[in-house]
Amino acid sequence: MAKNCHNDYKMKFSGDEEFPDLSLHNNHMAKVLTKEIYAKLRGKSTPSGFTVDDVIQTGVDNPGHPFIMTVGCVAGDEESYEAFKELLDPIISDRHGGYKPTDKHATDLNFENLKGGDDLDPNYVLSSRVRTGRSIKGFTLPPHNSRGERRGIEKLSIEALASLDGEFKGKYFPLSGMTDAEQDLLINDHFLFDKPVSPLLTCAGMARDWPDGRGIWHNDNKTFLVWVNEEDHLRVISMQQGGNMKEVFRRFCVGLQNIEGIFKKHNHGFMWNEHLGYILTCPSNLGTGLRGGVHVKLPKLSTHAKFEEILTRLRLQKRGTGGVDTASVGGVFDISNADRLGSSEVAQVQMVVDGVKLMVEMEKKLEKGESIDGMIPAQK
Ligand code: ADP
Ligand code: MG
Repeated sequence: MAKNCHNDYKMKFSGDEEFPDLSLHNNHMAKVLTKEIYAKLRGKSTPSGFTVDDVIQTGVDNPGHPFIMTVGCVAGDEESYEAFKELLDPIISDRHGGYKPTDKHATDLNFENLKGGDDLDPNYVLSSRVRTGRSIKGFTLPPHNSRGERRGIEKLSIEALASLDGEFKGKYFPLSGMTDAEQDLLINDHFLFDKPVSPLLTCAGMARDWPDGRGIWHNDNKTFLVWVNEEDHLRVISMQQGGNMKEVFRRFCVGLQNIEGIFKKHNHGFMWNEHLGYILTCPSNLGTGLRGGVHVKLPKLSTHAKFEEILTRLRLQKRGTGGVDTASVGGVFDISNADRLGSSEVAQVQMVVDGVKLMVEMEKKLEKGESIDGMIPAQK
């Protein structure tokens, strides 16, 4: 193990003296971290110098969240998941439905395996989107990047993305080259990540040096977008207005595989292994890293007593339409897959397509003043 001098310095104090106060906490990290695990891991650091205190800091500083059960920890490099597995394996199991250290993940980016998805009613489904994250091998992750490293990732990404063509031909826009008004317009149109005001991000160290090294690349009609150096090295997004998830997923799969090929040509593959799938900053995104979702109008269903139960049974989650930290406005929700790890990209988007279709049917039924009791799905 490599040396982190500041971490060694802490060894002057006992594990008890260093143990964080988690008495008010409700996140996955706080549920798992015991004094014993902490004592065992606190002397370690990864080859790039990431420590267990770095892993847990965001979860220590953010006891809970009003809308979601947060993970409460991050990885700082590819090795974090191995070095701190006594802590991270149980968190991964809790967050990903009992996923075991011996389990293997499935990848399927063949869009032709998706059934349906081109007929979600656009009167209810306002927009469709699929995103994932990718980490570029050979660099530390955003909670731990140095400025030079982050700029290196940006430079490599600009070079790689410049060679995309056809429907994917696009341009890179660094945040530092944008006015506040230009940024706000892109954020309000849901194309760009928000400024990192969320304490979940800032406490994980992901807002350091903002906006240095960050930017957005997108094709000419803004249906295929790549965020550089936000929460992951790359966030790859396919989106469009209306309910044609099939087309969104097709573009997502084709574009993503093009990008992977180009990065490989530049001698930088993506972090991946058989057990964890794609390795990303937040343990909640391991596996596919995929969030496929729609903005959908459900004013009646969302106030129905069974709304939460229906979402759980369909293996879906809800957010507000302004992103993860926002509440719903006017009965419009961001509904997306709850699973990331252990099932494939195709399977996860299929959950969204099938689930949203059913929820729109339920909404229409409620509009007519009829009961949906006979439509409540079984647990998927
Ligand atoms: P993620 O982390 O999955 O990218 P966030 O919840 O942080 O998602 O939201 C990021 C941005 O993407 C926000 O501006 C949000 O409004 C937008 N967004 C998410 N899903 C959709 C969708 N289906 N249609 C339009 N915009 C979306
Ligand atoms: Mg986000």
